[in-house]
Amino acid sequence: MTHQLVSTDPATDEVVATFDVQTAEEVNTIVARAREASPWWRDQGYDGRRDALLRWKRHLAKHSEDLVQLMHRENGKPLTDARLELMLALEHIAWVAKHAGKVLRPEKRRPGVLLANFTARVENLPYGVVGVIGPWNYPIFTPNGSIATALAAGNTVVFKPSEYTPAIAQWYVDAFAAANPDAPDGVLSLVTGFGETGAALCRAGVDKLAFTGSAPTGRKVMAACAESLVPVVMELGGKDAAIVAADADLARAADAIAFGAMGNSGQTCVGIERVYVERPVRDAFLEELTERVRTIRPGSDKSASYGPMTMPSQIEIVRRHVDDALTGGGIAVVGGRESIGDRYIEPVVILDPPHTSSAVQEETFGPTVTVTTVESLDEAVKLANDTPFGLAGAVFSRGHAEEIVDRLETSQVSVNSVLGFAGMAALPLGGRGESGFGRIHGPEGLREFTRPRAVATQRFPAPINLLTFGRKAWVVRLLPRLIRWVHAR
Ligand code: NDP
Repeated sequence: MTHQLVSTDPATDEVVATFDVQTAEEVNTIVARAREASPWWRDQGYDGRRDALLRWKRHLAKHSEDLVQLMHRENGKPLTDARLELMLALEHIAWVAKHAGKVLRPEKRRPGVLLANFTARVENLPYGVVGVIGPWNYPIFTPNGSIATALAAGNTVVFKPSEYTPAIAQWYVDAFAAANPDAPDGVLSLVTGFGETGAALCRAGVDKLAFTGSAPTGRKVMAACAESLVPVVMELGGKDAAIVAADADLARAADAIAFGAMGNSGQTCVGIERVYVERPVRDAFLEELTERVRTIRPGSDKSASYGPMTMPSQIEIVRRHVDDALTGGGIAVVGGRESIGDRYIEPVVILDPPHTSSAVQEETFGPTVTVTTVESLDEAVKLANDTPFGLAGAVFSRGHAEEIVDRLETSQVSVNSVLGFAGMAALPLGGRGESGFGRIHGPEGLREFTRPRAVATQRFPAPINLLTFGRKAWVVRLLPRLIRWVHAR
């Protein structure tokens, strides 16, 4: 009997869709089909691929309300959040479609004095077949950052979505085929299942693997890929901090931080989980933050600010972090232990939890935020950087923002705002440390899904030819002088 995967509405437990759990053999077949489609897709060139991606984008936009309803049902997020997520994904598809040719076109390089009789260039070739393993928190936007970029760079793609959001993924993949009926099967395909199906994808002969999810699973994916030396991109979690300086616009900071921390039920890898605020403005900031957070409400109705927790097991992690912070002496400014329900979590703001508590050290992925009082910006930067993660951060200051940006060790920083970098299709996104490595989005993302090939072409024989056993005696005698003349001065 075929093993089945049932996806449900996290607000009601109603069944949304049922999928087969695909075996390693089935995954191998789908990857083989993607490989067969590879020459066709590569031969479309940048213009052909741009047109195909833009047709896909238009199809997604035209039928967006169907997709948005499905995102609401399967992931739980409010309709407006689903629309915003889709809008950002469409921006990214448009950007990579239009810019891939310019970013990846062959580039001439200087051959250097010794080989001046050559021309030199670098070509950016697609890998072939790229495997993408995606998460459930932004079921379109997040995998799309790898999928659209890899496609625009000339790769075919096999996508394994999270077990919590396979129907959304199916809709997104089917839309590509619907918009491009002339494309062969296998340009963009789906495999469904649990972790083992993802592991099978790593071992199915893909040429590169892009993973988004947790660091522990990222390690397993890397280990599986290492067996065949498959290169990987790792987009992992974060513990992003916002620094609020004494000269910040506190109302603006509180507004942005409330959204950055609680939006999408806090299930955002680049969400704000920690705040460091300078003591002179601590109380005024807390007042502003509390005022905003008190108007935020989880639910599944039209006016809810955010939805249920998508993955039930996450609720226990949030409970443990809140409990740990409060037991250690943190003060519940908004909500507390009682905020954590069976499906929904009310907003929680905790003041001055111990730095060692799990709420400060580990990724919480819930609608909670810690606020820590600091005596100086130096202390704020030190504490913000004191984490194994290194995804993003935010700085709120009128006069010191740039100096704080310089000292933050994250890969993305927002100034006087949150999350903006993720919406800008021209900016790269990625991490360091436990937040992973490699880049998606922007020119850096396009290059991530290509391998450079160096081509050196001899135009005419040079009088000084060192690349032959028939080197002339005067050339051999000249070499020591040449070394001193070129490099010893
Ligand atoms: P995981 O990292 O476990 O899963 C992410 C993806 O990897 C899913 O598609 C999952 O499939 C797949 N997967 C699981 N095991 C394997 C494996 N052995 N080999 C290959 N693929 C595998 O994340 P979770 O969804 O379990 O969430 C756990 C934590 O991860 C959260 O608490 C949060 O902290 C973090 N997270 C971070 C995200 C980010 O954006 N950086 C996104 C989501 C989560 P399946 O779902 O079918 O198991």
